[in-house]
Amino acid sequence: MPRKRFNTPRKVIYYEYAKLIYRSRYDKWGVKFKSGKDYIRIEYIFKQLLDNKIKPSNILRENKLLVGSENSCVYCGASENLQWEHIIPKAKGGPDIIDNMVLACRKCNLSKGARDIFDWCQSHFEIPRIVLGKHLKLLLLEYEKQKKMDSTSDELGFELSRKNLALIFETNER
Ligand SMILES: [Zn+2]
Repeated sequence: MPRKRFNTPRKVIYYEYAKLIYRSRYDKWGVKFKSGKDYIRIEYIFKQLLDNKIKPSNILRENKLLVGSENSCVYCGASENLQWEHIIPKAKGGPDIIDNMVLACRKCNLSKGARDIFDWCQSHFEIPRIVLGKHLKLLLLEYEKQKKMDSTSDELGFELSRKNLALIFETNER
């Protein structure tokens, strides 16, 4: 069997961080990764994260800058029927804290429901940077807390992929 490249939560999370950092450096509102050059740059950032030359916490500072649009839906920009939405659904063990919450309109909130953010956004649009930043931070802190950053799929009890990362909250005993 071929060995999977992203075989630990650390690698899956850091690769998503690398893409987020790349987006924040080169395109303010998101970029569709198309060219090989994009991937080479992302790969470079990914390696810097693994080598501890960039710390994920660096990206968290930018989250603060993005909290300007408090009066519109973080997903579609609508300004009516806004509600606090849990990025990692409460039904899936998502914590009831501000880091797990964003303002979303009723329509987006209903549409997303209890789906994972990677799953839902993939069929709609790119994940907004503020949402991705919060999501990755939650995952990072939880995996660190449970000391599972370098666990394998077997140890975790689920297949490693970005969509499955949030399963750590379901297995969490509080
Ligand atoms: Zn919306």
